[in-house]
Amino acid sequence: MTAADSVLVGAVDLGGTKILSLAVDPSGAVRGEDLRATDAEDGPDAVLGRIAESLLAAVTQAGPAARLRAAGIATPGPIDFERGVVVQAPNLPGWRDVPVAERLGAMLSLPVVIENDANAAAWGEFVYGAGRGARHMIYLTVSTGIGGGIVLDGHMYRGASGAAGEMGHIQIVDDGPLCGCGAHGCLEQLASGTAIARRGRDAVAAGRAPLLAATVAGSDDVSAEQVHEAALQGDAGARAVIEEAARYLGRGLTAFVNIFNPDLIVIGGGASKIGPMLLDPALAEMRRTAMRLPLEHVQIVAAALGGRAGALGAAALAAERT
Ligand SMILES: [Zn+2]
Repeated sequence: MTAADSVLVGAVDLGGTKILSLAVDPSGAVRGEDLRATDAEDGPDAVLGRIAESLLAAVTQAGPAARLRAAGIATPGPIDFERGVVVQAPNLPGWRDVPVAERLGAMLSLPVVIENDANAAAWGEFVYGAGRGARHMIYLTVSTGIGGGIVLDGHMYRGASGAAGEMGHIQIVDDGPLCGCGAHGCLEQLASGTAIARRGRDAVAAGRAPLLAATVAGSDDVSAEQVHEAALQGDAGARAVIEEAARYLGRGLTAFVNIFNPDLIVIGGGASKIGPMLLDPALAEMRRTAMRLPLEHVQIVAAALGGRAGALGAAALAAERT
């Protein structure tokens, strides 16, 4: 290991329940890692202290010569990228206008940049993952919600107020389920893991999904994984739930293809692990409804970085901006 190799970038993915910290070398290789509880109820001051401790634990793991030259922090919710301020974080009580870059910068004596977690994951896939070599890339994460990020001409597209890339909140149907954003029938309410679970529950209640009903045994607690599992075992009602979500997902993909004419759409997130049963009908719907020219160009691939995408994207941003 040369001296230059021991100069690393720190990266954090701050979640509502966990803090993931990485120490990343210039090639994007992870040289140290720390995972600990956020304990978000303790409030911003305590969590910022915990982030600093976690980063130091990650760099310690990278060896005695390792040190950080900058850090990038992926945080949930809307942020002010230029000022490094978390405007609001839905799963972190008390987080309003928290100057994360300044506070952590002072604690760690390092330049610190922050990025919204979905944008950071998009950037991670673009720089180090499934999006390498693309120029126009849409990243879509399908998990409990649906989010994403937009890379245009090789640049992260943040929009006029940093709020771009809310891929889950395009309205797909009238009079659909109420969404957290205040609208009805958003993609997130129709094709996320949460939506699949809710429709699975509906199918059980209506007597349409006998194997799924047997799995949950009278409980109201149905997960997207259980719906998928029952569908794999031949439960037609459970399969119909996933195929319905897939059609909606396909309409979302069509919107992205027609508007952005991307080279590549990268799909990640927990619910995307359902795999072909979700993705094949989604792609069929996209092929049926998207415009011909952008459709011929676009490729759809699975995300490559898993749960590290956000932190790795924050690392790449910190390396570029400092
Ligand atoms: Zn919405």
